[in-house]
Amino acid sequence: MNYKRSSALFAQAENVIPGGVNSPVRAFKGVGGTPIFVKEAKGAYLYDEDGNRLIDYINSWGPMILGHAFEPVVNAVVDKAKKGTSFGMPTEIETKIAELAVSMVPNIDKIRFVNSGTEACMSAVRLARGFTGKDKIIKFAGCYHGHSDSFLIQAGSGAVTLGEPNSPGVTAGTAKDTLLARYNDIDNVNTLIEANKGEIACIIIEPVAGNMGCIPPKKDFLKTLRALCDKHNIILIFDEVMTGFRLAKGGAQELYNINADIVCFGKVIGGGLPVGAFASRNEIMNHLAPLGPVYQAGTLSGNPLAMAAGLAMLNALNNDVEIFNRLAEKTAYLHVGIEKVLSAKGVSHTINRVGSMISVHFDESEVVDFEMAAKGNNETFKKFFHGMLNEGIYIAPSAFETWFIADALTYDDLDVTIEAVNRVAKTL
Ligand SMILES: *Cc1c(COP(=O)(O)O)cnc(C)c1O
Repeated sequence: MNYKRSSALFAQAENVIPGGVNSPVRAFKGVGGTPIFVKEAKGAYLYDEDGNRLIDYINSWGPMILGHAFEPVVNAVVDKAKKGTSFGMPTEIETKIAELAVSMVPNIDKIRFVNSGTEACMSAVRLARGFTGKDKIIKFAGCYHGHSDSFLIQAGSGAVTLGEPNSPGVTAGTAKDTLLARYNDIDNVNTLIEANKGEIACIIIEPVAGNMGCIPPKKDFLKTLRALCDKHNIILIFDEVMTGFRLAKGGAQELYNINADIVCFGKVIGGGLPVGAFASRNEIMNHLAPLGPVYQAGTLSGNPLAMAAGLAMLNALNNDVEIFNRLAEKTAYLHVGIEKVLSAKGVSHTINRVGSMISVHFDESEVVDFEMAAKGNNETFKKFFHGMLNEGIYIAPSAFETWFIADALTYDDLDVTIEAVNRVAKTL
């Protein structure tokens, strides 16, 4: 395929935007080459600036779960836009989407809307700290909760007691309050809690990890985590920015039948507009300003365009009783198909899948945590990525990302994809 115009646009962007992109993964650093500039998209397909059509397995990193330019969302946004795009004053539609979200998600009474998943997670942690009066948090290596300081932490040499910044600009003072645990390792969590007795405000986790490829929680891992949090008076935060309104109406809480104390949302909840949210029981949410002392605010939070898109999206999901099964079935079909062709070609791999999240790791050992995910063969991934792209199929330009299956993908699209994997596998 020809990417002349994309390359030219990227060169132009590099002059005025750092690295040419507004979010680093888009720059293709993980796979080499230059990023593709999108002109438009519809349903399961992206159309780029060079006139290529790509089958999309990223779907804006999750939000377009029903496909691009989904008409009910587009219409809702267009209608709203004509009536003013932001007031900084209350509007009825905020209550409508809040009521719908509260009705779909288990164990939440109130929800506060923000503008991104980052903001949701950052605010959830502040609320947990304000509610418990404790400072430290536990996060899991390889889980992503946005780019706020407290989350940009890597394991320090004394990992039991303190983490280290993994980006310049994050202070040692901030890093010392974030402890890093191994995903799917309850003993490790227990050790951290014991070493920091009475100091841990919250544990934040992706209930199904999606930012180190897809990694499902081991059986009873989340349940045991819940019990540990209860025992030590720790707030359990499920970061459902990726899994919320994707794995089930009620997200991972519903899928695994486990209640978190605070739940974070983003991606699907905004239907493709910038929306995040965090939610909890009254007891906790009432600590938030203006009801309580924990401060959180946003000029554009709950703005009408974002709420219109989110409401249309949640309504579509809520009214389609088969949607989550249908997505899971399509994803399983893809899984079986890819598995078959990679095995036939003798390519070392492990495929992880939960619902409509799936990822192919190029290593045959079981992938249960970040260390295992990092063992995947990145050279193979790069070849795979560019091979697929050449076949007109767009997967994430990084080995550490989940593919997001959208309902707009037809079984024909899936067959075309499996055939493409078959051809690309010969070159790996
Ligand atoms: C995408 C993501 C975030 C960050 O959301 P942004 O809207 O990019 O700020 C946080 N947590 C998880 C699990 C995510 O997948």
